[in-house]
Amino acid sequence: MKQERFWETKPLVDLSEQEWEALCDGCGKCCLLKLEDEDTQEIVFTNLCCQYFELNICQCSRYPERSKLVPDCLDLRSNFNECLPWLPSTCAYRLLANGEPLADWHYLISGRRESVHEAGVSIRSYALSEETASDDIDDHILSDWRP
Ligand code: SF4
Ligand code: SF4
Repeated sequence: MKQERFWETKPLVDLSEQEWEALCDGCGKCCLLKLEDEDTQEIVFTNLCCQYFELNICQCSRYPERSKLVPDCLDLRSNFNECLPWLPSTCAYRLLANGEPLADWHYLISGRRESVHEAGVSIRSYALSEETASDDIDDHILSDWRP
């Protein structure tokens, strides 16, 4: 049966919990550690992902308890306006909030979960666990990459 394109007919605020979760493309970019400049509030991303991120499957290993385990891990839906400025430009939630369509590689369009990785959009090929970070976090800044 053809899946209804619910994201094209409903605004984000009207999505069911299941629909909201289904929108995530599995890129993992929001689980990268970020640094904020105290003076300019500019945010840069690092190539370090949260210790609970499982790189082989590109998913959080402790999703139901994530906010308890990592206080900085904000529930996206209930903190959407706060998160929107730093969400990656490829993020499905950001795209829809800006009135843009999902990308062709999004699994809801392609029909395949692997397409986000094949398109080089996910962090799977370059991220390292924060547990393996070098002493100087600046070494990990993704200088040519912005949300
Ligand atoms: S950046 Fe957006 S689409 Fe990518 S994993 Fe995070 S919430 Fe999902
Ligand atoms: S707890 Fe899970 S969802 Fe939160 S940042 Fe870590 S890996 Fe990502």
